[in-house]
Amino acid sequence: MKIAVLPGDGIGVEIVAEAVKVLNALDCRFEMETALVGGVAYEALGHPLPEFTLKLAKEADAVLFGAVGDWKYDTLERPLRPEQAILGLRKNLGLFANFRPALCFEELVGASSLKPDLIAGLDILIIRELTGDVYFGQPRGRRVSTDGHFPGTEEAYDTMRYSRPEIERIAHVAFGAAQKRKAAGSIGRVTSVDKANVLETSQLWRDVVEEIGTHYPDIALDHLYVDNAAMQLVRQPKQFDVIVTGNLFGDILSDEASMLTGSIGMLPSASINAQGQGLFEPSHGSAPDIAGKGIANPLATILSAAMMLRFSLNQPEAAQRIEVAVKKVLAQGLRTADIYSAGTMCVSTVEMGSAVVKCL
Ligand code: NAD
Repeated sequence: MKIAVLPGDGIGVEIVAEAVKVLNALDCRFEMETALVGGVAYEALGHPLPEFTLKLAKEADAVLFGAVGDWKYDTLERPLRPEQAILGLRKNLGLFANFRPALCFEELVGASSLKPDLIAGLDILIIRELTGDVYFGQPRGRRVSTDGHFPGTEEAYDTMRYSRPEIERIAHVAFGAAQKRKAAGSIGRVTSVDKANVLETSQLWRDVVEEIGTHYPDIALDHLYVDNAAMQLVRQPKQFDVIVTGNLFGDILSDEASMLTGSIGMLPSASINAQGQGLFEPSHGSAPDIAGKGIANPLATILSAAMMLRFSLNQPEAAQRIEVAVKKVLAQGLRTADIYSAGTMCVSTVEMGSAVVKCL
C-alpha cells in the first residue's frame, strides 16, 4: 500500500511527522513517499502543486495531507497561492465527498465552549460536497484577471453552480453513511442544509436530495436553511445525525462544529473519490500563528491517519487501535495547549505523538 505524504506549510510539517510516527508503529506494511505542496512547493519549484506531487498523489492508494497556506502568500496572484494546491488535488483526484465527523471525547467535554450537557456524547457527521459550488465556479476580480487588466477593479464575483449528477452522488454518499451509522445505533437521519429560499443552486440541491431520499425509506430526511443550521449547531448539536451540504456552507459549518468538540486540533477529515481513493487531513489549516513552536495538537492528523486506514487501506482494526490509543492518552490527562485545562498535563506536539505510539 502506497501513501503519498504531503506535509505542506506551517504546523503541517510538525503534525504529519507525528502521524507518520504512529503509522510506523503499526505492524502494517506501507510504502510512504513525501513531496512538497503549498507555499514550500511554490518557493522551491514555483508552483503550489508541482507535477511530481500531483503524480505521486494520483498513483498512491491514499494521501496523508497536513495543511497549506501562510499569510505571507496573500499578495500572490490566486493561481499560485498555496490554497490552490488543495483545490487542485481535490479536483484532479475527483475527491467529491468530504467526511468530517464531530465527535466529542468524554475526556474533553470541559474543553468545549458549550455547556457539558449539550455536547457530552456528541457524535455527528458532516458530509460536505467538495468539487463544486462557488469555489469552482467562474470567478472574476482583481487577482484572477484572464487578460491581466484589472487594476482598480470595482466589482468581483464568483459563480455558485451545481449540476444534478453532482448533487445526486453526494446525496447517495450521505444516505449510505446514515444507513451504516444506523446499523451501529444512530437515529438514521440526514439533514440537508441549503439556502433554497434565496438561491437557485440551493433549490436544485433541495429537489435532488429529496428525490434521492426516496430510495432510502429507512432514513429520515429533513432540510434546514444554512443560517438556521448554524444556529441549531450551537443550540442543540445532538439533534443531528448526518448533515449533508455544499462546499461553501460545509466549509463554514464544519469549522463551527469543530469548536463544539473542544478544539479544531481534534477533528480529522477524509475526502473520497468514486474509487474509494482518498485524501486525509486535519480539518484545520496551517496555523501560522503557532507554527514552529512545537505546541500544535497532532491528534486531528493522527485520527485522519486512522480514517485513512479504514476508508482507503482496508485496515479497520489498525484504525481502531489508533482511535483507542488516542482515547487512552486523553484519559491519562495528556493535553496540548489548545485543549489544556486545570488538572491536566500540558504536552508538546512531539510528546503527544510519542504518547499515542506508547499506547499502541
Ligand atoms: P487555522 O485552522 O490554520 O487556524 C485557526 C486557529 O486554530 C488558529 O488560532 C490556530 O492556532 C488554531 N489551530 C489550528 N490548528 C491547530 C492545532 N492542530 N493545534 C492547536 N491549534 C490549532 O485557520 P486560519 O488561521 O484561518 O488559516 C491559516 C492558514 O491556513 C491560511 O493560509 C488558510 O488559507 C490556511 N488553511 C488551509 C487549509 C488546508 O490546508 N486544508 C484549511 C484551512 C485554512
